Amino acid sequence: MERDIVAVFGAHPDDLDWAAGGTAAVWAKQGKEVYYVLTTSGESGEDHIGKRKLSRTEMADIREAEQRIAAGVVGVKEVVFLNLPDGRLEPNLQLRDCLVNVLRRLKPNIIISLEPAPSAFDNFYLYHPDHRATAVALYDAIYPAAGTATYVPEPDAGLPPHRVREVYFSGGANPDTYVDITEAIDLKVQALTSHRSQITDPEQIAGFVREWAAKYGAEAGCAYAEAFRRLEVPQ
Ligand SMILES: [Zn+2]
Repeated sequence: MERDIVAVFGAHPDDLDWAAGGTAAVWAKQGKEVYYVLTTSGESGEDHIGKRKLSRTEMADIREAEQRIAAGVVGVKEVVFLNLPDGRLEPNLQLRDCLVNVLRRLKPNIIISLEPAPSAFDNFYLYHPDHRATAVALYDAIYPAAGTATYVPEPDAGLPPHRVREVYFSGGANPDTYVDITEAIDLKVQALTSHRSQITDPEQIAGFVREWAAKYGAEAGCAYAEAFRRLEVPQ
């Protein structure tokens, strides 16, 4: 059997560690090839540690470095930054085409995405406009665009079409699939606390992560879990 390739997509450094850091760690340990893809570098974030007034370029550099450290903790093979403007993403053709080229280059058969169809709008963090834009553009990039030879992105990277097999959506109201992350909960906490510029109280983050994962664990019948809505892609 061919080795699974997993691409985890998010908008900002730390999104992916929250959504799927445990799953990334478990799957990487199982031998899956895991990539992180971020549409922005989080340059609009504040520096909570130094409280410095940093330029956007300096902030992007810090956050990319933190994300690479976090990704290394869970065994991600490569972090891809698309360097689009933090806080200003739209689910347009430009973003879709950019994601089609990424899918055709990395050739993942499994995708982890933020939820493109949030039903509640009851959480400002979860439904950040960049999260929604990335998720919707990715949904449209996966099918039918990436797998269709006649879909030519702009710019055209000249890559052959690629069909994804299945997608795991994180952050929705109705999860139907759980990944047991009990063996990786410490790595998830360590990955999240690697985003030092964004964190004032690492203990508080660790406590919250364990509590949240334990809630899904109780639903899944294990100590700690991450929850997703799973969808197969038409072939
Ligand atoms: Zn985010």
